[in-house]
Amino acid sequence: MTETSDEYKNPATMEKITSLAKRRGFVFQSSEIYGGQNGAWDYGPLGVELKNRIARVWWKEMTQLHDNIVGIDAAILMHPRTWEASGHVENFTDPLVDCKKCKARFRADQIPEENLRVKKCPECGGELTDTRKFNLMFKTHIGAIEGEANVIYLRPETAQGIYVNYKNIIQSNRMKIPFGIAQIGKAFRNEIVTKNFIFRTCEFEQMEMQFFVKPDSDVEWFNTWKERRWAYYEKLGINMDHLRWHQHGPDELAHYAKDAYDIEYLFPMGWKELEGVHNRSNYDLSRHQQYSGKDLQYIDQDDGNKKYTPFIIETSAGLTRSVLMTLCDAYDEEKVADKGNDDDWRVVMRFHPSLAPVTVAVLPLMKKDGLAELASEIRDELKEDFPTDYDQSGAIGRRYRRQDEAGTPFCVTVDYDSKEKNDLTLRFRDSMEQVRVPRAELAERIRQEIKKYRRLK
Ligand code: ATP
Repeated sequence: MTETSDEYKNPATMEKITSLAKRRGFVFQSSEIYGGQNGAWDYGPLGVELKNRIARVWWKEMTQLHDNIVGIDAAILMHPRTWEASGHVENFTDPLVDCKKCKARFRADQIPEENLRVKKCPECGGELTDTRKFNLMFKTHIGAIEGEANVIYLRPETAQGIYVNYKNIIQSNRMKIPFGIAQIGKAFRNEIVTKNFIFRTCEFEQMEMQFFVKPDSDVEWFNTWKERRWAYYEKLGINMDHLRWHQHGPDELAHYAKDAYDIEYLFPMGWKELEGVHNRSNYDLSRHQQYSGKDLQYIDQDDGNKKYTPFIIETSAGLTRSVLMTLCDAYDEEKVADKGNDDDWRVVMRFHPSLAPVTVAVLPLMKKDGLAELASEIRDELKEDFPTDYDQSGAIGRRYRRQDEAGTPFCVTVDYDSKEKNDLTLRFRDSMEQVRVPRAELAERIRQEIKKYRRLK
């Protein structure tokens, strides 16, 4: 696989991840029976669980664990003036060139400068068009009449839905600066080049938190949020050697940003942005104030009723990109026997138990002699507390492998002894260790194991 970076120690390649994702029902190509739709993907039964769990863990981390952060769920369709105020109508563009001969389309910033200078297609040598600005926003019309007056955009980021509600939230929830607003939702970008599976897509989800601060405290808060976002990945057991900071240089810095860092992850195709932590200055609220004509200044009752436009520290992570990161990070191949055949190896997805699509699978050793019925009963007991699975088909070793590949951290095996002694085998995905646990203590034991989970490798 040419895209595998040399630095990448993990055996994951994009090919392996894509094929496992399809085989096990994590992610499918959108409208596959019609040949697929570029830039769009569907999340299957395991994928939607993984995505929802990442979202839930992020939500807890960014709202529940803070006294001064609240959530919101704003509409995807917003007043078109929003996107003039935000700068997206004018600035949210990629430079685009086309080949007149082979019709290939490129982002001008992603092909060698020499090709641009001599206007030669890097693929066929044909003549390139001039570079033109291409706006990434999806534009459509609202209502029955198509015309410039009815233009509406699919939001290209969730952040603006937060800014336009900042005043509502201060008033309805009596929030005081510093405070934050968190949101998870869909965003749409007409990306010219979509590749690398779900890394860059036209429809995706973001997890954003906008933190409103006093103008002179922005640098301190920026550093605090950098630290907190780094700690979040550590807590999830992500391989920290595969994460790094990248500071935006002067030519990369967005028009609104005072300072910006990305958290990059070492994907199989190299280091790529996963999340941005940005100091957006007071740009956003100043612009919305200017375009809406509404007073968006904050009156600081704790500081002699001083009036100011708050600065914003933003943490902006891709949810769907986090799914890809989590798949890549969890993927492992391990030699488990030495018989000289394919069965010697297992593929194991080492998801943190709080992210794993299924927490516990219940497996009867045999279908007969009442073991299947007992196993179903035990599954029913566990259902209220954990996402569960049940599997009674095939040899037990094969069933463990299937669960390893789905990333299920715990398997419970019901055997003949279980009937007599009312205890079960609890098998751990990472170490493959097995312990006997009394049935009455099973749920509590699993809860404890999740709490103290540490990734082995
Ligand atoms: P890039 O440089 O990769 O195009 P960006 O700098 O424009 O991304 P932001 O606008 O900062 O990205 O968006 C915040 C986050 O949203 C990114 O870190 C990424 O995780 C996610 N994201 C952005 N664009 C896409 C996309 N097309 N597909 C999937 N996720 C995306």
